[in-house]
Amino acid sequence: MLPRSAREQLLGQRGLMVWFTGLSGSGKSTIALGVERELHSRGILCRILDGDNIRAGINAGLGFSAEDRRENIRRIAEVGKLFVDTGVVTLAAFVSPTNEYRQMARDIIGADDFFEIFVSTPLEECERRDVKGLYARARRGEVKDFTGISAPFEVPEHPALTIDTSRQPLEVSVRQVVELIEAAMPHVKT
Ligand code: ADP
Repeated sequence: MLPRSAREQLLGQRGLMVWFTGLSGSGKSTIALGVERELHSRGILCRILDGDNIRAGINAGLGFSAEDRRENIRRIAEVGKLFVDTGVVTLAAFVSPTNEYRQMARDIIGADDFFEIFVSTPLEECERRDVKGLYARARRGEVKDFTGISAPFEVPEHPALTIDTSRQPLEVSVRQVVELIEAAMPHVKT
């Protein structure tokens, strides 16, 4: 099999994982979409992994118990590792609520390729947005083990970047993440 470096050379870019962590509705997917669009327009191949393409597919059948959440993250990290090894800038947008899960993802992917971004938007703001109506349902007790309401979220210890979307516009967040990726990939075209 060809080495990773051959694929990266072919693409003219480096594979890496940008791992967004934060509460539901904090803005992970929205920022990832903006970053994807920006990098794509600069000729960088990206791939977003999020609930829509992972929980609905490869992880259909996994729930939100501690055990299933762990397995969810493990599979995402293994799939992500394949993308990174293909030379793709991979953007994962999952709540990933504990240090243990995030450390597992970092270990699977490799620390050198793993950039953790904490989307730190406060619970009150996420709940006010209530994009999917899940907070209201969780408050009514209709959704079990909902992160921030009835399941814990551990603040990351050493994120590469912390973004509070209640305090800055989307464009600023996108720019900050793109700059982080640029710094890790000096030959990104600007
Ligand atoms: P998550 O992926 O973390 O669950 P989403 O990105 O799906 O969160 O939802 C975040 C919501 O917050 C979206 O509806 C988005 O339009 C809204 N929003 C409001 N202000 C911002 C901002 N400054 N940055 C990102 N998202 C924002």
